[in-house]
Amino acid sequence: MVNISAYRSLISELNEKNVRLVAVSKLKTPSDILAIYREGHRHFGENYVQEMVEKQQQLPADIEWHFIGHLQTNKVRYIAPFVSMIQSVDSFKLLGEIQKQAAKNNRIIDVLLQVYVGDEDTKYGMDEKETLELLEYYDAQRAHFTHVQIRGLMGMASFVNDMGMVRREFDRMRQLFQVLRAQFFIGIDTFDTLSMGMSSDYALAIGEGSNMVRIGSTIFGNR
Ligand SMILES: *Cc1c(COP(=O)(O)O)cnc(C)c1O
Repeated sequence: MVNISAYRSLISELNEKNVRLVAVSKLKTPSDILAIYREGHRHFGENYVQEMVEKQQQLPADIEWHFIGHLQTNKVRYIAPFVSMIQSVDSFKLLGEIQKQAAKNNRIIDVLLQVYVGDEDTKYGMDEKETLELLEYYDAQRAHFTHVQIRGLMGMASFVNDMGMVRREFDRMRQLFQVLRAQFFIGIDTFDTLSMGMSSDYALAIGEGSNMVRIGSTIFGNR
């Protein structure tokens, strides 16, 4: 069930801290989304291509859709006509396909590189070395990337109860963000987004420098 009062206290807390909220609506209905839309909210996050496409067709056109799930290269074309930001870029090949499909649609698509800094190898995203390699390829072919804008990093902490460990992982992501900005985005002020934090750990993430949180269950209830 949608919890409007939880949304209201969350959004006022986040506005005060200049942190953008992406309301994660995966597996929730269009009417749930509309309830939050009517509060004035416009940024929604989805994990599955077909579900996002269906909702986009049914809901107001001024919603800014963030894709936050694993994205297969062959599905980029379905979301390229409308997606605002793809937060889950985890390969150079995917970045190239986003460039291609964005160009076809005459759009510039914002993206985040999905990173992980924990030891778990099960998670999607790139480790620090892979992220660096992607940006080196990108840097060597910058003129090619006319329709994609790399805005920053997205990351999730390990699913552990050890909050000290979660904090250290967020801290490492922030350090990586700063190192990459200094190495590849000097004087490019659009590399500005660090998307970290979900319902259970967003306060910790903001403490470690996050300026975008992706929150689902606090707003929409359990899935
Ligand atoms: C589902 C999801 C979220 C939201 O998680 P909640 O715990 O419901 O707040 C955030 N980020 C990603 C990548 C997700 O898949």
